[in-house]
Amino acid sequence: MFDAILIEKPDGTQTVAQASLSEDQLPEGDVLVEVAYSTLNYKDALAITGRAPVVRSFPMVPGIDFSGIVAESAHPGWKPGDRVVLNGWGVGETHWGGLAGKARVKGDWLVPLPAGISLRQAMAIGTAGYTAMLCVMALERHGVAPGSGEVAVTGAAGGVGSVATALLAGRGYQVAAVTGREAEAEFLKGLGASSIVAREELSGKPRALARERWAGAVDVAGSTVLANLLSMIRYGGTVAACGLAAGMDLPATVAPFILRGVTLAGVDSVMCPIETRRKAWDLLAAELDLEKLEALSVDLPFAEVIATAPKFLDGQIRGRVVVPVAPDLG
Ligand code: NDP
Repeated sequence: MFDAILIEKPDGTQTVAQASLSEDQLPEGDVLVEVAYSTLNYKDALAITGRAPVVRSFPMVPGIDFSGIVAESAHPGWKPGDRVVLNGWGVGETHWGGLAGKARVKGDWLVPLPAGISLRQAMAIGTAGYTAMLCVMALERHGVAPGSGEVAVTGAAGGVGSVATALLAGRGYQVAAVTGREAEAEFLKGLGASSIVAREELSGKPRALARERWAGAVDVAGSTVLANLLSMIRYGGTVAACGLAAGMDLPATVAPFILRGVTLAGVDSVMCPIETRRKAWDLLAAELDLEKLEALSVDLPFAEVIATAPKFLDGQIRGRVVVPVAPDLG
């Protein structure tokens, strides 16, 4: 038996509780993983609180990512003892996820733990950090480079934003950290931000075009924030958009695209092809300053995950939240 967080909907109303499960209850899959660490991501908080329809079938074990050790495998790519990482693929949404002692998944979904980082460090990065790297890769694919000029990061004190700030600074970018929390300015400067921008500057009614400020941006917010960002991107720049912390809508005009040649690059981590994932993870392991990673991550005991989820959605959490499930695994 092992502990798990279990979301159920017995009579139309969602319930969530810590439960004890057995291996034979796990869903189908060709690899059984002993979970060492999982995390609490924005999407997990939505699933646990039920504030958005993230969970597609019930009962569900949430947890869109985990790191752990292969216990059993019928997949040719994996054998017992292998150290693995999983993000996305609907895990924690349509397939039982990482907030449990064990997970049975498709071997095709796993990536090897990159050399040079621990199982905990992999989850300090987690889906948010891996998405941050996908955003950086998207910016550079569209021609943004450290010499292009300052790059903005919205939601900078959150999970994606804090890792994106550290990664971009590590690559030599000047980073404008956009935050709603003035108190996090020192934290963000410690991650390498060169300037701090108050979120209010991107919260007013968006204009079609505003003063050109940034060569590119990583946006976790969507809605008015993204519309304002687009209007402020310099000629030929790119915004990598991955989130909806401010909303799902986009009250923008086409002016930045047709008059400034701005690119809006969408970033999805869930169904991202395996080669791109492996590349992102290898780059993260090679580039991310492990001291900064330590500074931007905290451990959350398994027993406190359910109570912490609502705070997450209120923007109260700084950086990354790691959930040690079986830290003794290494
Ligand atoms: P966090 O909650 O850790 O961070 C979000 C941050 O956004 C907050 O910390 C806050 O930062 C800022 N924020 C909160 N509310 C608002 C608002 N109303 N307007 C503007 N900014 C706001 O979440 P994550 O970093 O884990 O995820 C961020 C977003 O990215 C989420 O929408 C998530 O669903 C999405 N995401 C998408 C992925 C994909 O595959 N496309 C993968 C991973 C995440 P501050 O206080 O500094 O302003």
